[in-house]
Amino acid sequence: MHIGCHLSSSDGFFAMGQTALSIGADTFQFFTRNPRGGAAKPFDKADASKLVALLEANNFAPILAHAPYTLNACAADEGLRQYALDVMKDDMARMDHFPGAMYNFHPGSHVKQGVDVGIDYISSMLNQLLKPEQKTTVLLETMAGKGSEVGRTFEELRAILDRVELSDKMGVCMDTCHVFDGGYDIVNHLDDVLEQFDKVVGLNKLKAIHLNDSKNPMGSHKDRHEVIGGGFIGLEALVGVVNHPALKNLPFYLETPNELPGYAAEIKLMRSKAV
Ligand code: FE
Ligand code: FE
Ligand code: ZN
Repeated sequence: MHIGCHLSSSDGFFAMGQTALSIGADTFQFFTRNPRGGAAKPFDKADASKLVALLEANNFAPILAHAPYTLNACAADEGLRQYALDVMKDDMARMDHFPGAMYNFHPGSHVKQGVDVGIDYISSMLNQLLKPEQKTTVLLETMAGKGSEVGRTFEELRAILDRVELSDKMGVCMDTCHVFDGGYDIVNHLDDVLEQFDKVVGLNKLKAIHLNDSKNPMGSHKDRHEVIGGGFIGLEALVGVVNHPALKNLPFYLETPNELPGYAAEIKLMRSKAV
């Protein structure tokens, strides 16, 4: 199985690769810049190349960048929407240095404009962002439905994908905490949830899994991650996720509340349960 966790990018690209190796990971996720937004550090090409060599030498699964979660592609304010596009354009240019990399983002919050307006803004932002020559796959993350978040239902993700012209540049990242919080019963009915995902979105669009437990019961729309086995999803259901035939070959990224030793232990645990 391919599994890693979210890592801090403060020491650079190559350092993240070394950290990943030290905790038994063969992929990882990182923020492209401060998650609350702001300017990114100047791009260090030499550092990026060193990471690419490390990834290849160690057979890593694609690494996953995460856009700042304050970006809102469907904000009511035009300046904020433009800012989301500008940041993502800059991120995409950086990510193309990493062959096969993926870039995950939260679709956005429609802030009382209604979900249809939100979907319109998000898809038009993507149509301005995506370029035929880009190598990076952009992923919509499944959301918990906190506030006015777009992307809580598979139908909303489908509606966005339907309006994107370069749809082969797009995929979906399923967050286990978020879908459970969003009301999908992955604990008792994982097969049914995935069948529904396949019908609505298509399992061929599913490119990555955020593997998290949840501090809250199903359908609570809270988005509070818990350590593996410490929450309402539980270890058994998460083992079911990593071993599911439709999911087992995807890369798994832990976003659990842990420091490195905790991540190392969860990676070891999930590897021991993988069949
Ligand atoms: Fe996220
Ligand atoms: Fe996530
Ligand atoms: Zn979350």
